[in-house]
Amino acid sequence: METVYFNGKFITKEEVKISPDDRGFLFADGVYEVVRWYQGFFYDLNGHMTRLKRSLRELRINWTDTDSFPDFAEKLIKINSLENQTAMVYLQVTRGAARRSHNFPKPDVLPTVYAYAWGFLPEVKLKETGIKAMLKEDIRWSRCDIKSVALLPNTLSFQEAHENGLKECIFVRNGLITEGSHSNIFFVINGTLYTHPESNYVLSGITRKNILRIAEDCGIKIREEAVEENRLRFVQEAFISNTSAEVMPVTELGGNTIGDGVPGPVTRIISDKFDNEINSLKG
Ligand code: PMP
Repeated sequence: METVYFNGKFITKEEVKISPDDRGFLFADGVYEVVRWYQGFFYDLNGHMTRLKRSLRELRINWTDTDSFPDFAEKLIKINSLENQTAMVYLQVTRGAARRSHNFPKPDVLPTVYAYAWGFLPEVKLKETGIKAMLKEDIRWSRCDIKSVALLPNTLSFQEAHENGLKECIFVRNGLITEGSHSNIFFVINGTLYTHPESNYVLSGITRKNILRIAEDCGIKIREEAVEENRLRFVQEAFISNTSAEVMPVTELGGNTIGDGVPGPVTRIISDKFDNEINSLKG
């Protein structure tokens, strides 16, 4: 039986009751986080907590118990017997339930807090071959830095990729490559690692941040600078990053083969160093 966390309680998923007046349901008025459990610990929980607090602040959602998340996330792992597995915890916090109105509820209502955990098998094979992705105009709003649950442009775009047998949709805004529907993207051009800088047009990925740190430690030259779509023919390597895929090579983008069509050497170094870091944390 699956046990979830709902407004301070551990209950079964079937017992969860969310009001139809919940602003998450009516307006997608909420934020989320996803943290990964590596058979004994959450990777960079501090990074996720900092981003969660920022997202809540930007949406002016006042969840006073934010710091309880690490504790109940771990409890969810344990209650659901996932300690010895690779697992994820999803957290969603909405502004709460109040009669539908564009302005925020007055007086304040309590936010709705929901979290659940699940085990999964990492995509080891895909990391060897790399993935193919499509390119598409970035149809999202201009606050992509907030980890908001308003993901319709992301899901519509990802569905398009999925229906075409592709594993990700990479967005292009004003000729510049921003990020994927649920990942950040990196390029290697003449040995230099490029990724879009932190801005309101991308989500500041926790994996992205750690990759930049790892790459710097390896002495790889880094430029946090957007790559123009029309420079893609000069790209030798590409990879996407997120909490579930970690470092995932991209071998084809927008119908064009990247480099030799196989994961490249810089991607491999970064991916190996990332794996080493995880293994060293496992102790
Ligand atoms: N960008 C978007 C739009 C995302 O949805 C995600 C996944 N949450 C990322 C980037 C990667 O973030 P992270 O590395 O923290 O999983």
